[in-house]
Amino acid sequence: MLDNRLDSTTLKTRDSYVAKLKEMGIKTLRDLLTYFPRAYRDEQEFTRINEMRTDEVNVVQGRIKSILNISTRGGKVMTKAVVADETGEVPVLWFNQRHIKQLFFKGSEIVLTGKLKFERGRSMLLSPKYEKPSATLLHTGRIVPVYPEKDEITSKWLREKIHMVLPYAQYFEEYMPQWILEEAALMSLPDAIYHVHFAKDEEHLTKARERLAFDELFILQFLALKRKKLWQSEFSGEAREQEQTGLRPGVDLEAFLDSLPFKLTGAQFRVIAEIFEDFAKNYPMMRLIQGDVGAGKTVVAAAAIYAMKQAGLQSALMAPTEILARQHFKTLVRLLTPFELNVQILTGSSSTGEYEQVTRQLATGTCDLVIGTHALIQEGIQFSKLGLAVIDEQHRFGVKQRAVFKMHGSPHMLSLSATPIPRTMALTLYGDQDLSTLDELPPGRQEIVTRLVPEDKRNDAYLWISDQVAKGRQVFIICPLIEESDAIQVKAVTLEYERLRTDVFPQHRLALLHGRMKAEEKDSIMKQFAAGEVDILVSTSVVEVGIDVPNATIMMIEGADRFGLAQLHQFRGRVGRGEYQSYCFLFSDSNADAALQRLKFMVKYNSGFDLAELDLQMRGPGEIYGIKQSGIPDLKMASYTDLAMLSKVRAYAQRLVGEDHELSKYPKFREKITKIEAQAELGDAS
Ligand code: ADP
Ligand code: MG
Repeated sequence: MLDNRLDSTTLKTRDSYVAKLKEMGIKTLRDLLTYFPRAYRDEQEFTRINEMRTDEVNVVQGRIKSILNISTRGGKVMTKAVVADETGEVPVLWFNQRHIKQLFFKGSEIVLTGKLKFERGRSMLLSPKYEKPSATLLHTGRIVPVYPEKDEITSKWLREKIHMVLPYAQYFEEYMPQWILEEAALMSLPDAIYHVHFAKDEEHLTKARERLAFDELFILQFLALKRKKLWQSEFSGEAREQEQTGLRPGVDLEAFLDSLPFKLTGAQFRVIAEIFEDFAKNYPMMRLIQGDVGAGKTVVAAAAIYAMKQAGLQSALMAPTEILARQHFKTLVRLLTPFELNVQILTGSSSTGEYEQVTRQLATGTCDLVIGTHALIQEGIQFSKLGLAVIDEQHRFGVKQRAVFKMHGSPHMLSLSATPIPRTMALTLYGDQDLSTLDELPPGRQEIVTRLVPEDKRNDAYLWISDQVAKGRQVFIICPLIEESDAIQVKAVTLEYERLRTDVFPQHRLALLHGRMKAEEKDSIMKQFAAGEVDILVSTSVVEVGIDVPNATIMMIEGADRFGLAQLHQFRGRVGRGEYQSYCFLFSDSNADAALQRLKFMVKYNSGFDLAELDLQMRGPGEIYGIKQSGIPDLKMASYTDLAMLSKVRAYAQRLVGEDHELSKYPKFREKITKIEAQAELGDAS
């Protein structure tokens, strides 16, 4: 019943409203009842008219003594009323709400919520919210839910409709194991759904929100811990045996380290040691390395691949795009061929001949390391003895895609990520992986000069950029994020590109990059840029993470306030990769203090972790990474910064996974989890 489609009859509304809801992702009663308020106004306390306070919000109930519409000279309408209770009376004034006079008459009871203003020598309620008093007040005189609005779907409309269908809250089926409900003292699910909208009082609201937040985190953690358990419980005996004989902690890395043109940082040493400890355990590794751009993740992966070879095992490295795969191929051939590793590449553009050769070498075991894109996880690829799978930019792949490697004998799994995520968040999201942090950049890295450029300096900036291009440098220009739609975004970036090309930089070679282009088209433009055939790349935020163009020294970001700090930091990481001093220029048309403050942090801080932590606190996770790109779920109720809640939830999730990860004793919870897993598969990155 909860999953029935909403229609205009059930909702007593017009079809256009139903269509709009659908657009907002609200298609069923369940969706509507889980469309939670974004805030609440506490208006529980009624005030008597003679006790109202000026400049504060007052909630009063009274009887209308007079009401009339007055047309002003400008063609507007004012509605004037006088409302009285047993203690006194107060004038009320509304602008352009002619219809109020149709709803209330002399003698009607009315509840008003609004600020008392002292103007033109007397006190009056100015444009208060109004409602007819009834047993259940919705819009005033209670804890009033405030919903995220979209066009004609106003908070007020939502309040009415949600209240209308609220009795269906009782059909939400409780799925949480009974012992968790009891021990954690959680409100039941139907009650929580009810009170999160129309709470009886503060206490019920708190309990309701707590319950819904608990569930959100609990499900994420349960899924992660279950994945970890499954990963660890299965490995192929054969591969492991070989490895046990070859890989002891402290496997001899000396020759490899001696061959490097640099000395590892302390952080790189530490993380390699963590990986080698995992190798010595009797279950497969599941580890995530987080490290800022340029922290040197590749060489850490190379050390692990080298160790696999010593144990007689193969490795695979998967990257999200062809161009990144090629970059890794170049680096790893250089690092590893001196040690007689046979390194191959396999991508969508490999010829049939190449494909056949590489797959044959993988199956027979002559290939030690294969680097590639999604092509690596397609059917038909067999490994002779896969020991390690490395996934670069792991958030670009879905859980399911990563899991494909398990079919090849449960190898060790090493994920790399340049998206710094605060530890609390990482624990929730990546609870299935152990976490290593590369928190130290190799020495001698140049600092990128970051500047917040005021609008009146824009032309100077253009001139300066043009000068740099004349000297042979290359430039990224990132256009503002437009969330309304992809189509509008593409239009905006295309216009800006045309403007820059014809009016600002007619003497330079410009290229355009956006998300609506085909993958091959994007790749080819990135290649031209990397090859120096393009001077200025005008792009939306799709510009590739991890790409190395040492000659690019300027990153100019328009509408910088619309991006999260972590994302700005990622853009900034595109430059500063070569010998030349690099620059990041931030433009913003926002005057809001908060926005400017955030951008000033960009000028001040150079660590992605610091910035991510700051932004998580200032804006919450949804905003930080750009949800679509990062694969990080936005939480509706819970918070990634609530450490106490996180660890409480984690403890229960751990107990449940330990006790019964298949949920044979908890069919209802299993059903819930199965549904979520099925949805996640559909939604997985492709
Ligand atoms: P990322 O963590 O962004 O993947 P890379 O692995 O691509 O970083 O490394 C960035 C650059 O730093 C590479 O050119 C690499 O050779 C170099 N590098 C890595 N480790 C060190 C080190 N310890 N000292 C000096 N340079 C290093
Ligand atoms: Mg990298």
